[in-house]
Amino acid sequence: MNSSSTALVLFRHDLRIADNRALAAAAAGGRPVVPVFVLDRISPGTRPLGGARHWWLHHSLAALSGDLSRLGSPLVLRSGQMQAVVETLVAETGADAVFWNRRYDPAGRAVDAKMKATLRGRGLAVQSFEGQLAHEPSLLKTKGGGPFRVFTPFWKAFSAGIEPRDPVDIPARLVQPPSPVATERLEDWALLPTKPNWAEGFAARWTPGEAGAQRALQDFVEGRLAGYAANRDVPDGKTTSRLSPHLAHGEITPFQLLSALRHGRIAGSRADHEKFRQEVGWREFSWHLLFHNPDLGSENFNKSFDVFPLTADGRGFEAWRRGLTGYPIVDAGMRELWRTGWMHNRVRMVAASFLVKHLLIDWRQGETWFWDTLVDADLASNAASWQWVAGSGADAAPYFRIFNPVLQGEKFDPDGAYVRRHVPELTNIPTRFIHRPWEAPRDVLFRAGVKLGETYPVPVVDHERARRRALAAYETVRGQHDDRSV
Ligand SMILES: Cc1cc2nc3c(=O)[nH]c(=O)nc-3n(C[C@H](O)[C@H](O)[C@H](O)COP(=O)(O)OP(=O)(O)OC[C@H]3O[C@@H](n4cnc5c(N)ncnc54)[C@H](O)[C@@H]3O)c2cc1C
Repeated sequence: MNSSSTALVLFRHDLRIADNRALAAAAAGGRPVVPVFVLDRISPGTRPLGGARHWWLHHSLAALSGDLSRLGSPLVLRSGQMQAVVETLVAETGADAVFWNRRYDPAGRAVDAKMKATLRGRGLAVQSFEGQLAHEPSLLKTKGGGPFRVFTPFWKAFSAGIEPRDPVDIPARLVQPPSPVATERLEDWALLPTKPNWAEGFAARWTPGEAGAQRALQDFVEGRLAGYAANRDVPDGKTTSRLSPHLAHGEITPFQLLSALRHGRIAGSRADHEKFRQEVGWREFSWHLLFHNPDLGSENFNKSFDVFPLTADGRGFEAWRRGLTGYPIVDAGMRELWRTGWMHNRVRMVAASFLVKHLLIDWRQGETWFWDTLVDADLASNAASWQWVAGSGADAAPYFRIFNPVLQGEKFDPDGAYVRRHVPELTNIPTRFIHRPWEAPRDVLFRAGVKLGETYPVPVVDHERARRRALAAYETVRGQHDDRSV
């Protein structure tokens, strides 16, 4: 490598300048650096980002662009197929080195492996680094030498391994190449919704970009981390870190999170810290599963679920999507998702379970809706979580454990604050009926201004009947198990 020749640094799931090993390595020798983001909607198998992530991506790229310009070398935006764009840029800039942080999704891995081989074949220096995950999915193995399928042993092996490294520093400065490199304009990519602008509520809740991510981390570890283990299941108010969209866009790394727990000025007990570490561990585990099971987002992990008798309940799906199922906790969650691009984890579980068990709708339909609407939509965590809820996943919730949306609401939102916040038509319902408005006497509904079936729906399915139907449907899967075990 020549210290005066240019290096390209590819930004993908890593929209940050701190703890960015590819950027740090490229900048280390003082050579010119061209930071690049490629909007690749062409490479085979690439799943286009959903609408909510496009909104985030726009703002995150704007923030990254500002940070890189301040460091000395502005971000170059190009659209097209990743490898073709990189080859064009190599030719334009005379770069003799390309650096990136590794991706772990099946399509991204395939593109990067081919690109690495081609560029190296042409004599370029190509280096890739870790950063998206705190473990390398190909290296962490069971005692038998295979991949993990169950969280607890995965977590034990992860925790028993070497301590995740400390974050690396932001480069002091970046040297610009001798001639400027042409860039496309972010505005021309039209990532933001316009008509209608369904993301209006997002800006009040989120600050995309690395500075927003760092603030969210500080806020959390100095405050809400205290009590996290006890409060994290409460959906109303800020009880969790809300770092997931920042992690999904790589504005912050798991190394930074784990290091903050080790070294920071932090609140909370050991139990709080361990619980938080473990949740970060579920993200690692999800990626481990996807790495070793590339079809996780499209195929049942447990094949015996392939015979599950699904329904094509179009009306039910529409009611679920729009937050009009008649079950307040489900509707509150689905509306929080639409308004803010995020939903609390407990409510994700209840809402997802309602779709697959009460309505017998394919988990893939729910996964696709979440993919489009979540600002934290993540190929691995979304697929693994949907399969966990559906019972078809690795280490999944047993299918016969069917969430009762009324009891879940009463347990985790006992005063109905979450429901009232997101389902305003129920605001005046007394707390004892907030999760079961259909049981409220007529005069109570009248005084609360609620007309069931008009201002708020009657339940799309009766819980008890739906539960029995789901268990009967599950018998077909159990039959499969039995067949296989003989
Ligand atoms: C049906 C369903 C779909 C989901 N889809 C996604 C998704 O697309 N993207 C996503 O990031 N998470 C997904 N999750 C997991 C979880 O709901 C979110 O990670 C969490 O709500 C994010 O909020 P937080 O950052 O405040 O979490 P915190 O409680 O503060 O947790 C810290 C971090 O740990 C990770 N984490 C926490 N819980 C989980 C979990 N169960 N699985 C994997 N990682 C976890 C996240 O990265 C999170 O940011 C899904 C869960 C369900 C039930």
